[in-house]
Amino acid sequence: MADTFYNFVDGKWVPAATGETFLDTNPARPEEVIGEFQRSGPEDVDAAVAAASRAYGDWRKTPAPLRGEIIARATRMLVERKPELAETITREMGKVLVDSGYDVQGAITSGEYMAGEGRRMFGDTVPSGLPNRLAMTVRDPVGVVGIVTPWNLPMLMPAWKLFPALVCGNTVVVKPAEDTPHTAVLLFEILEEAGVPPGVANLVTGYGPEAGQALVTHPGVDMISFTGSRAVGKQIAASAGAELKHVSLEMGGKNALVILDDADISEAVTGAMWGGFSTAGQRCTASSRLVVDESVADEVVERLVDGIGTLVVGDGLDPETTVGPIINAKQLDRIHSYTAIGVEEGARLVVGGEKLEETGSGGYFYAPTLFDHATPDMRIAQEEIFGPTITVIRVDGDEEAIAVANGTRYGLSAAVYTRDTVRALRAVRDLEAGLVYLNAPTIGSEIHLPFGGVKDTGNGHRESGTAAIDQFTEIKTVFLDYSGTLQRAHIDEPTE
Ligand code: NDP
Repeated sequence: MADTFYNFVDGKWVPAATGETFLDTNPARPEEVIGEFQRSGPEDVDAAVAAASRAYGDWRKTPAPLRGEIIARATRMLVERKPELAETITREMGKVLVDSGYDVQGAITSGEYMAGEGRRMFGDTVPSGLPNRLAMTVRDPVGVVGIVTPWNLPMLMPAWKLFPALVCGNTVVVKPAEDTPHTAVLLFEILEEAGVPPGVANLVTGYGPEAGQALVTHPGVDMISFTGSRAVGKQIAASAGAELKHVSLEMGGKNALVILDDADISEAVTGAMWGGFSTAGQRCTASSRLVVDESVADEVVERLVDGIGTLVVGDGLDPETTVGPIINAKQLDRIHSYTAIGVEEGARLVVGGEKLEETGSGGYFYAPTLFDHATPDMRIAQEEIFGPTITVIRVDGDEEAIAVANGTRYGLSAAVYTRDTVRALRAVRDLEAGLVYLNAPTIGSEIHLPFGGVKDTGNGHRESGTAAIDQFTEIKTVFLDYSGTLQRAHIDEPTE
């Protein structure tokens, strides 16, 4: 019998009003049930938003350093429980333990950073144009924040949003991905134990078009913070726009790793392997396109084939495994359909391109796949596959390389391998991406720096660092006049 897990609303673990549940399973062994989770509907979202609204008045007035201390307590628990949490993530989501450790560590560093923000959260103090007057800005929270997250980083993603939202004085309702509710439940158990007051952080599990949609369209929600696919992000932007809600979107990527003719090929291929195949390519920042100068392309492809030969596909809990399963059967089929598309479009399938069913576990395994001789306009070079598939596009010279790298609707992360500083700096200048790496792959962002993308990857916001504080606060401009008389800006300002 599977354990049953509940929503966390107003400080209590409660069943969904719908009376319905769903099962969460292990993608490496789908017969292994992780647990039974609440399939929430609009009534559950209503209750969670109502609890968040009630809690908001006190929480926004709680001193920010105190809010930070609660986050610091939760972070210490994440540190203590890191190995167990990483194992939970691998069991639920599939990726290898080292990737799951990264996921928990991302939440930990976010907690450490944001706990400290409780003692900073700076405003500005600026001179007034009028005498005997102080002018400054202070930060107010936005209100009730709805948080909707994907399955590929099931601990880091909610934490990256929750911690800054909470330290800024917002109250939140989180709807995690239906494929990874267990990790979210464990995070909320930690928040409860750390002393987050009832109603301040609420969790409703369930399906996107049900619980997710009810949350993003709820009139009591002041802001939506979403990470996920472009298609769902666009819908959320439209509905949030109609209600003038704040909305922050982080969406997909089709990230280019560019290898110029003077690159250290060994380093570039090592980077491409990590960028392309870690988490089985299920990362928004995955190096899914390799844009390679024709003069070095044969060598790059040869080395990639050797590298792929060393990968071990299997259960992420097995220490020998380097590439875990795909999240679910639907994604596995979707990834496989792109192999057929690539072949039909005329790209050369070099290795992989098949489902790996011989493990006998029924797990959703896919062979690491390499396409060569793709052209920039092919669907495999334009659309996010979100799996262990790398596509090589051969180019002639730096100008073409940058044009091809920029030639998709996305703009999350880009990487360039070159030994030449001038060529590197030109690439930094011209790449259309929110993150640029030189001589490193497209993944590996750090918590104290802004994270996000341009073009169709985002809508102008950044997560992490102080950019997250900007996102989750409203600026209030304050004038303190101690002149004892009426002073009119632009009328009474002293001039020469
Ligand atoms: P989805 O967009 O399908 O889902 C993301 C979240 O939105 C899930 O919780 C989902 O619920 C929910 N959702 C689905 N439909 C709706 C709806 N109509 N209204 C409200 N919520 C909804 O993305 P995936 O989970 O498949 O994640 C993969 C995508 O996320 C990729 O495109 C990837 O690039 C992107 N991503 C981006 C990152 C970034 O920072 N730029 C980081 C990580 C991933 P449910 O789970 O039930 O479907």
